[in-house]
Amino acid sequence: MSPPQVLDNALGAVGKTPLIRLDKIAKDQDLKCNLLGKVEFFSAGGSVKDRIAKAMVEAAERDGKLIPGKSVVIEPTSGNTGIGLAMACAIKGYATIITLPNKMSLEKEALLRALGAEVIRTPTEAAWDSPTSHIGVAQRLQREIPYGIILDQYSNVNNPLAHELTTGPEIIEAVVATPASPEHPSSGKVDVLVAGAGTGGTITGIARAIKKTHNKDCIVVGVDPKGSVLAKGPDCDEVSPEDNTPYTVEGIGYDFIPEVLNFQDIDQWMKTDDAESFAAVQLVMRNEGLLVGGSSGSALSGALRWLKSDAGRETANTEGANVVVLLADGIRNYMSKPWFLQIAMEAPPSALAGKIAGILNTK
Ligand code: PMP
Repeated sequence: MSPPQVLDNALGAVGKTPLIRLDKIAKDQDLKCNLLGKVEFFSAGGSVKDRIAKAMVEAAERDGKLIPGKSVVIEPTSGNTGIGLAMACAIKGYATIITLPNKMSLEKEALLRALGAEVIRTPTEAAWDSPTSHIGVAQRLQREIPYGIILDQYSNVNNPLAHELTTGPEIIEAVVATPASPEHPSSGKVDVLVAGAGTGGTITGIARAIKKTHNKDCIVVGVDPKGSVLAKGPDCDEVSPEDNTPYTVEGIGYDFIPEVLNFQDIDQWMKTDDAESFAAVQLVMRNEGLLVGGSSGSALSGALRWLKSDAGRETANTEGANVVVLLADGIRNYMSKPWFLQIAMEAPPSALAGKIAGILNTK
């Protein structure tokens, strides 16, 4: 462990997140493999996207594309990239405009405004290439606003690169540095990675780091919500491209294929729905004490379903195999969402409830 140091600013607290065993869930699901969560809400801005915001801003600064006091950073996002950018821009002195589809939570808008960003809401149902979509509106503003710049997470190489250089290596180092023990057998390598895809930068970058430098045979499983078109390829038998039913989970899935998503790095896809995602969030909270967001539930439910499928059963039954699930953000972003209030407040009563009622009602 390196000794603690004074950081220059909050950007020094981006990333370097823990990899945490999800042992109770693994045991309940009869898994012999290790189930490990890469828990990204520990990052300064609260999500995996802080890393790319920092990387894109720093790269643009190196290229002389940003002028403090003048540049206006404009970005279409599902919120988390915006929060990372607004944090970086607050620190560095750039104005920020975030375009955000209506479905994204009030909490994200409030955080963006708290960080000093302007927020423009756009219709969720607008197709990506419509002038009224979050992408279309950002482009229109950029054309009109002097010194307006879109760093563009959908095509910016620093998006996947940030994960190839930080998220991936952190996962590899944690697995390699943790010795196998009789209590916790370990193959010493990352055998499976499961992550949701929005821009696809996270899964593409981590997959590259693992396959290039650590374990070329690592199986990379992408998770895509029903209603999105990202899942495709010979191994995906669950694709229904014409299905554009709305879904509630935020941050994953799209109606177009972003440039940074590299299908070659993804071995298999799992389609998920809202109900299983939110049930998995409740499972992680109640069993592992981790306050994750909705897309983390999607990633976990996709992982558990994959481990029970023909493709994943061997891994599930292999002692010491390491299955890493990317948990992209925290519940802070969703506290007022009905789905969260439902899993929190309408959870089945604990064994204590009857006893408490008995005591209080007899007084
Ligand atoms: N989960 C959440 C909550 C997100 O905000 C995002 C980013 N859109 C993702 C997952 C997916 O990350 P990526 O864009 O790198 O695919």
